[in-house]
Amino acid sequence: MTVDKVYIPHLLQRPEKTLAVDLDSHLADLDTLTPVRGELTVTHQGTYLEVKARAETIVTLTCDRCLQAYNHRVAIVPKELIWLEHEPDPNTLPLEREVSVDDLFETLPPNGHFSPETWIYEQICLALPQPQICDEDCPGIELRHPETVASDPIDHRWAALTQLQQQFQPPEG
Ligand SMILES: [Zn+2]
Repeated sequence: MTVDKVYIPHLLQRPEKTLAVDLDSHLADLDTLTPVRGELTVTHQGTYLEVKARAETIVTLTCDRCLQAYNHRVAIVPKELIWLEHEPDPNTLPLEREVSVDDLFETLPPNGHFSPETWIYEQICLALPQPQICDEDCPGIELRHPETVASDPIDHRWAALTQLQQQFQPPEG
């Protein structure tokens, strides 16, 4: 079963107020070699949603050092509580609203929608390594600038020559 979006009040009518979703699809915004497979359950707990999942996939990442694509296996067992709160009325919202602790929690309006796919996408993104390196021994981008390397000793010789010239210059006056 693929569920695009869940209308949150509908969860209250389900057995145990829980919806279980099988995950087996490629996500639109994520480059994966294999589909994201696993299971997600969302339970309506009155004032919050309890979301639990088990998901596995192979993500195609780009190495920060050598810029080559490589595969990275992700297996996660995320769990999150999403508070059900109405958005503050924009008309009564003061221009500068103080940031409260509540803002640090994920919230959804009680009559809104929950998207399993978006949620699992965010969880996978959070699980991705930072920085992304294809291998511990990744040598990085190979330097292919022979002209730079070759010019180096020449520079030294010129420097030495300049020094010599300065030494042999007759004192001024
Ligand atoms: Zn690399």
